[in-house]
Amino acid sequence: MTTSVAAVLAGTAAQRPDHSALIYESEHFTYGWLWEQARRCASVLRANGVRPGDRVAVLLADTPQFPVTYFGVLTAGAVAIPLNVMSTASEIEHVLTDADASFLVCGASLFARAREAAEPVGAALLTVGPGPAGTVDLEDAAQDAAPIEISAARGADDVAVVFYTSGTTGEPKGVMLTHRNILYNVERMVTTPYAFRSDDVLLGCLPLAHGFGQICGMLTGFRAGISLVMMPRFSGREALALMAKHRCTVFMGVPTMYVKLLDAAAQGEQVPQLDRVYSGGSALPVKTLNDVRSTFGCPVYEGYGMTETSCSVAYHYPGLSFRPGTVGVPITGITVGIARPDGDRIDLLPAGEVGEIVVRGPNVMAGYLGRPDITDEVLIDGWFLTGDLGRLDDDGYLSVVGRKKDLILRGGYNVYPLEIEEILVGHPAVAQVAVIGVPHPELGEEVWAVVVPAQPEALTAGADQEIYEWGKQRLAAYKYPRRVEFIESLPVGASGKVLKQALASKYGPTAGS
Ligand code: ATP
Ligand code: MG
Repeated sequence: MTTSVAAVLAGTAAQRPDHSALIYESEHFTYGWLWEQARRCASVLRANGVRPGDRVAVLLADTPQFPVTYFGVLTAGAVAIPLNVMSTASEIEHVLTDADASFLVCGASLFARAREAAEPVGAALLTVGPGPAGTVDLEDAAQDAAPIEISAARGADDVAVVFYTSGTTGEPKGVMLTHRNILYNVERMVTTPYAFRSDDVLLGCLPLAHGFGQICGMLTGFRAGISLVMMPRFSGREALALMAKHRCTVFMGVPTMYVKLLDAAAQGEQVPQLDRVYSGGSALPVKTLNDVRSTFGCPVYEGYGMTETSCSVAYHYPGLSFRPGTVGVPITGITVGIARPDGDRIDLLPAGEVGEIVVRGPNVMAGYLGRPDITDEVLIDGWFLTGDLGRLDDDGYLSVVGRKKDLILRGGYNVYPLEIEEILVGHPAVAQVAVIGVPHPELGEEVWAVVVPAQPEALTAGADQEIYEWGKQRLAAYKYPRRVEFIESLPVGASGKVLKQALASKYGPTAGS
């Protein structure tokens, strides 16, 4: 048996070649078709000089071209480096240099940006779809190419994919995941009750360039033989319409997507009945979870993970007793600890105490590409240090209390923004909220709440005071936000996460006034 991630697709294509793997713009693409195209693409990549172990950056929208090229790159034995299509030329250039990529495959419509990035670093540029004269069009060339088999030159412990992290807390980091890392989580998720079923239809609106959409959505889905409805650009309204049109059974998204779905539903958009929904990527407030559950009439399973752990660490799944406010239990074979790191030692804390979440298991990355310095800071004593703070209950449920970097230190007290956000989102005038710390001359930091109003047009003059009072009545004196600011929408990064640092710098300079 091959140990390549490409075998996920090969296996399902062998079992159910005529089943729809992809649905895009009402067209269906079968597993047999997808695998055939991927093997042809691999053949063309080879013919154009791609060798096993080469790094191939992929800049493609979430259309069928993405999986064809992605599996083509892996079949050829090369390392895939998926790039977000929203990336600017200088961001692409940064990744090409950082990852020492020899090739960049881009969608024809992204050619100008791709060329601007590839030329200075000398990466060979290939297009999918017709590019300017003289460029190789992989799609066209694949028509006459003889499909090849999965390269045997790469083993389970070779790097399969380099993912760039979401960049929520700083510069995105290139995470090296091996075939074994990725396949471990895919297999665990398929063989536990979390599983997709082969008759599931998933709305794929999470970017495929990001680990959550690619590993938890596409790869786990393909392993189970589901149909993936492709949606290159998310909008709440369109997502509801696509779910209804294609009779989706499952939705998987980040919390900001759920807010938009609920908003579209509140505007009168028809809501389809789903079988279950999965949330991850950032904390899902319990109120939002309850609203999603009642709107879609199905259970909501929240999970937790990060790019560095092949995207999953802990989850709720059908059959597991649901515990609101937690992210469920660790995946089988993955050990989660709560620690107080001390130099080169990791001391684990007892159940109930808050500390840094540390993870050990076959899903933990090989390291950050080209950055042994920061790799050494997070891989210590056999553990991966997540940078998140959390708590384990006696019976193994994990709660995430927030990122270390988001922790607010107010007058000597630790304030966890997620706890405050959970309370404030309960106020009827609040649709979304981000709690941040802004510099304060005496306290060090002051707690502020940045609120997206539920109905901006109906916002009253004293609404900020009402939200302030709401917090004051429900939270300890050192915790409740002293200032409430309204904002039209929260800044989010490419994977839909709220960028708190952007908010902190927006409001920071006026703090204490
Ligand atoms: P960067 O590492 O570049 O700053 P990032 O951490 O957002 O960006 P990802 O790997 O996409 O990049 O996200 C993983 C992080 O998302 C986790 O470390 C955690 O902080 C957060 N997260 C994921 N799931 C949850 C959840 N269910 N609850 C709370 N936080 C979550
Ligand atoms: Mg991170």
